[in-house]
Amino acid sequence: MSALFPTYARWDVTAVKGEGATLTDKDGKQYLDFIAGIAVCNLGHCHPKVNAALEKQLHSLWHVSNLFQIEGQERVAQLLVDHSVGDYVFFCNSGAEANEAAIKLARKATGKHHIVSMKQSFHGRTLGSMAATGQEKIHAGFGPLLTEFTYVTLNDEKELAGAVTADTAAIIVEVIQGEGGVLPMSKEYAKKLSQICEQYQCLLIVDEVQTGIGRTGTAFAYEQLELSPDIITVAKGLGNGFPVGALIGKKELKEAFSPGSHGSTFGGNPLAMAAAEAVVTEVFTPEFLADVQQKGDYFKQRLEQALASFSIVKEVRGNGLILGVACHVEAAPIITECRERGLLVLPAGPNVVRLLPPLIVSNEELNRATGILAEAIAAVNEKEQLSI
Ligand SMILES: *Cc1c(COP(=O)(O)O)cnc(C)c1O
Repeated sequence: MSALFPTYARWDVTAVKGEGATLTDKDGKQYLDFIAGIAVCNLGHCHPKVNAALEKQLHSLWHVSNLFQIEGQERVAQLLVDHSVGDYVFFCNSGAEANEAAIKLARKATGKHHIVSMKQSFHGRTLGSMAATGQEKIHAGFGPLLTEFTYVTLNDEKELAGAVTADTAAIIVEVIQGEGGVLPMSKEYAKKLSQICEQYQCLLIVDEVQTGIGRTGTAFAYEQLELSPDIITVAKGLGNGFPVGALIGKKELKEAFSPGSHGSTFGGNPLAMAAAEAVVTEVFTPEFLADVQQKGDYFKQRLEQALASFSIVKEVRGNGLILGVACHVEAAPIITECRERGLLVLPAGPNVVRLLPPLIVSNEELNRATGILAEAIAAVNEKEQLSI
């Protein structure tokens, strides 16, 4: 009996301790954690520098209202601005809130309402971010939705050109659709996106909630497609598990977020900023980011080699340390087989196994995960062969 709303189909695992890329459950069983709280614990569980920063803050000040000067916010905002094309930052507590703020800012700054979003996208669960999410199963039962959203297919330039008009306030995209199946945006599409935003004077919102903070081997994933977003939203990896989100925007948008226009009680409180400052200071260095890129390339290559012979595997895709193994069969049984063998992985859509190790993962752990995944896929592949 549980007093919780059954909003999650929970697994029968109770984690009690985390260290680096390892989770230990209440029976002492250890798992290699390639979920990392869904791309949240980018520095691994209980990273010493993040722990130390939080512990220090814990004994001086937890929270003050945003009516006060908050030095941590100034520092984290400067770090985010220094490593992005944005100029100003607004702090909130989650990805959905960051996207909610982005929708509000885009409307207010442009005076327009229409927003184009991608099918299979995921932007969150609030009424605004849910409307931006191009998945019917997420809308089901919660209508009427926020109006004036049009959903188009990622990487289909014609559909995009047909959907955007002079009345479009913004286009919101993920550079790699995380929940939607680890689907990367193509270079050509990115170019078209920039061109259309310019042509119709609409804003480009890049949702980096899952791909940002070093996940793809650059500070943000949009850099690799040479996009120049007007608004960037981040959350997941920003606090390494401490709830915090942010919207980063270009200077032209400053006036639209004038005093009293938007706000959050908890957004950017000193504890959240202590975590975020420690994370961003660690992640946003050329050495750290190059290491992520290198490990991502290595892992992808290892996976391609190890999985090449299985007929149920379609392809390995993604970039840096957000990778997906797309299958011709349902991902769920593979994920269960992995878990039983001590590897925690996620689905992304019905047919993709999503791999999101902490960015501090070692090559040895990547090798171990590759081995377990190959065993799990072999087991499912065999069952599949028998059933044909
Ligand atoms: C997880 C996610 C969100 C929602 O973040 P929450 O913190 O759960 O509100 C939004 N966009 C993307 C791309 C995500 O992966």
